[in-house]
Amino acid sequence: MRRIPGVMRPLCDTEIMQSPLQAPTAASDPKSVKVNLTTGTGVDIVWGDGHVSRYSFAFLRDACPCAMCNDEREKSKRKTGEPAKPAPGALPMFKPAAKPVSAEGMGKYAIRFKWNDGHDLGIYSWKLLREICPCEECLSLQDSAQGEL
Ligand SMILES: [Zn+2]
Ligand SMILES: [Zn+2]
Repeated sequence: MRRIPGVMRPLCDTEIMQSPLQAPTAASDPKSVKVNLTTGTGVDIVWGDGHVSRYSFAFLRDACPCAMCNDEREKSKRKTGEPAKPAPGALPMFKPAAKPVSAEGMGKYAIRFKWNDGHDLGIYSWKLLREICPCEECLSLQDSAQGEL
């Protein structure tokens, strides 16, 4: 590549062209992460780009990205974060609300929960969490990205 004098452009020039959901930029780099274990309300994340995401623990449990849960979701055609539907005609079974008994950071890129139902296989990367942000703005983005499903 030969440089043409006078038209030097900043390296990040193309950044705004990319969807924040694809690029590992400020959008998938949390500025602060609050895991409200004691109150049981969920996880609050403020992202590097200023976006704020709030996840309930139940949502996160249903969005577990491990192979087992992925498989189960695919079979029942459940969207990430959507609660399992009871079988038609079945009486709703009592299930205690999903809540982590502990949460640990996995290096700089992810968080892992140990859930009160004993499940602890899911590793939630920041990128994944940003992608499944349940706020209205992101939901409309996710819908348009997924098209007709
Ligand atoms: Zn899982
Ligand atoms: Zn959002």
